[in-house]
Amino acid sequence: MLLDVKGLKSGYGRIEALHGIDLSVNKGELVALVGANGAGKTTFLRALSGVQGVTAGTIRYAGEDITRASPQKRVTLGISQVPEGRQVFGPLTVEDNLRLGAFKRRGEDPAADLERMYGLFPILKKKRLDAAGTLSGGQQQMLAMGRALMAHPDLLLLDEPSMGLSPLLVGEIFNIVQMLKEQGVTILLVEQNAYAALAIADRGYVLETGTITLTGAGTDLLANDQVRAAYLGM
Ligand code: ATP
Repeated sequence: MLLDVKGLKSGYGRIEALHGIDLSVNKGELVALVGANGAGKTTFLRALSGVQGVTAGTIRYAGEDITRASPQKRVTLGISQVPEGRQVFGPLTVEDNLRLGAFKRRGEDPAADLERMYGLFPILKKKRLDAAGTLSGGQQQMLAMGRALMAHPDLLLLDEPSMGLSPLLVGEIFNIVQMLKEQGVTILLVEQNAYAALAIADRGYVLETGTITLTGAGTDLLANDQVRAAYLGM
């Protein structure tokens, strides 16, 4: 097991946003965490990357208790987050944004890593000298993913990569997520777009107002009546 979360609670001041989350991700797995707006998905990811305090429970990563580890320490251990809303550095070039990803956790050969990213995302090579702020939403999502991958993560945390993208681009981004999984990257995919996420996930968790209400194989959850009614509009 790569990531093992038990009884995790977190919140904002007196407001508890997560009421004891149990969730695990095995090495090589693609796990989806789906839930509506405000369910607590972002809070959970922020707790995993260490920028959000935890009031109870434990986070174990590769056997190590990292519940109180600094965000920097988690990055050096191999956890990389692609934040919601991408957050690329607009005035910097595409290539400089990618280089910044390698800064946090150096690979053996940054030049080779850049070429690897350009192989994954050919459009970024075309635009390598353009300011990141001039890219479209989908291209910025690719850039944010490329930047995280420059750090050679063992666990990639994706926060709503489909947000604000057209259905066509959502398909493209999810194809890339699937390809990364095939290349051996372990992925926790957090999504409001339950259908697209569960369709490619090995396993899924449904989060409702701070509590996991359902878990199972991605395909089983897609077929689940409760999930279909609540999230898929069926
Ligand atoms: P979204 O899809 O909008 O990102 P989410 O599932 O990621 O939703 P969170 O952003 O984690 O949900 O929010 C979980 C709960 O915590 C919500 O009730 C939200 O109002 C609350 N919350 C989030 N951020 C704060 C904050 N900075 N201060 C107080 N409450 C917050």
